[in-house]
Amino acid sequence: MGAPLRKIAVIGGGIAGLSAASKLVRDGNDVTVFESAPQLGGRARAITWKGQQLDNGQHILLGAYHQTLNLISSLGINLDAVFLRLPLTLQMQSSFSLKAKPLPAPLNLLFGLLLAKGLSWGERLAAIRFFIWVRNKDFKLVKDEPLLDLLNRHRQPPRLIKWMWEPLCLAALNTSIKTASAQIYLNVLRDSFNQNKNDSDLILPRADLSTLLANPLGIDIIKHGGEIKLKTTVDNIVKTDHGFNLCIEGKTDLEFSHVIIATSPHHTLSISHALDVARELNSFDYQPIYTVYIQYPSDVKLPSEMIGFTKGIAQWAFDRGQLCGQRGLVAVIISAEGHHQKITQEALGEAVTDELRSAFPNLPKHEWFKVIAEKRATFSCTAGLKRPSQKTSTPNLYLAGDYTEGDYPATIEGAIRSGQTCAQFILQS
Ligand SMILES: Cc1cc2nc3c(=O)[nH]c(=O)nc-3n(C[C@H](O)[C@H](O)[C@H](O)COP(=O)(O)OP(=O)(O)OC[C@H]3O[C@@H](n4cnc5c(N)ncnc54)[C@H](O)[C@@H]3O)c2cc1C
Repeated sequence: MGAPLRKIAVIGGGIAGLSAASKLVRDGNDVTVFESAPQLGGRARAITWKGQQLDNGQHILLGAYHQTLNLISSLGINLDAVFLRLPLTLQMQSSFSLKAKPLPAPLNLLFGLLLAKGLSWGERLAAIRFFIWVRNKDFKLVKDEPLLDLLNRHRQPPRLIKWMWEPLCLAALNTSIKTASAQIYLNVLRDSFNQNKNDSDLILPRADLSTLLANPLGIDIIKHGGEIKLKTTVDNIVKTDHGFNLCIEGKTDLEFSHVIIATSPHHTLSISHALDVARELNSFDYQPIYTVYIQYPSDVKLPSEMIGFTKGIAQWAFDRGQLCGQRGLVAVIISAEGHHQKITQEALGEAVTDELRSAFPNLPKHEWFKVIAEKRATFSCTAGLKRPSQKTSTPNLYLAGDYTEGDYPATIEGAIRSGQTCAQFILQS
């Protein structure tokens, strides 16, 4: 092989940066990933607690996340071994349940809605009517608007909103239904329910996120000759005549021909303040996700791998015993802003364990709980939000990250797509 084509710096070892780096090293480029944390993965990583690997937040993927699934397969990982694939099932505790039927899309959803338990006929037909309307519009709105406004205009009954549209909005966009982008929500509906019946499948990790994604990507990058520098924070990027210099802990590192900034927007702003890109970044707001891990005795099993709640603080509970073999461990998710942010983590853990006990009266006393609060888990995916393109106005400088331009909210798939787009731009340059 001849000399490497390009010398590329990827700033940020989250999933976006790693997906870009992996594609670029495979093409023979000289790539260095700079990551400020002691581990890769960013917002999709595992932490060790009481001898177990816990994710910084339970993640759910969808069958429509083709680039994610392709990337993981390309690393030689058997998808069936690392994921549990379930036909879309919304099992909302003591209110309603919906299961996609084994039919071609969109009949899988339409028959699922027709046979949904807990909804009146009026509610089922309202949901079907709305879905047919958006499908006829090709899932495109003339103008983006808050999802709740769109649902109200289409006379979606309050219980249907509370039990189905709102939990789906929180799970997918992590933004209140009052402000969430209806267009991005429709994009997710389109990709999940309008093409292949398997696109709406829920894909639940059977391993922790570092084992599943970040570590294999890191190994792949090194195997193809790339370099990864952990615990290395880039403070500033300086444009030179031939490319870019990176400033790291007061020192200037080697010059790079191309730079991908794959950090979240607030970090991107701080390291690129001298460049035009800073002006291209509007101010993003953020939404939290709290995960409460609760350890019960090892013989405890929830009725299914994933259960939704619509009454209290808890929104979804995942049985990590059934998913990852972490017997008796339950992960409870609380998305977006809410009252839970105003109480102590101790009080939150107690409130959530009480809610679980009242939902499942046979649950024994828990052994411990651990709250993981990700205060900037995702950007607020609000109606009309302008997101920057991966290509900046500075030649050879690119932006990767779940917040950059794209059809998706802050997701693994959005992050991977953005990284692959940056890599593609560089390969074409
Ligand atoms: C609790 C939680 C639950 C989630 N649930 C889901 C889900 O169910 N499904 C789903 O698809 N998505 C989910 N997400 C979103 C998903 O994890 C993110 O969209 C994705 O991980 C973002 O990846 P990224 O590479 O764009 O950004 P990040 O992961 O934020 O990566 C940026 C990286 O840059 C590093 N960095 C920052 N500044 C510097 C610097 N100056 N120098 C060097 N390195 C720097 C950071 O340390 C970080 O590692 C969830 C996120 C959270 C937090």
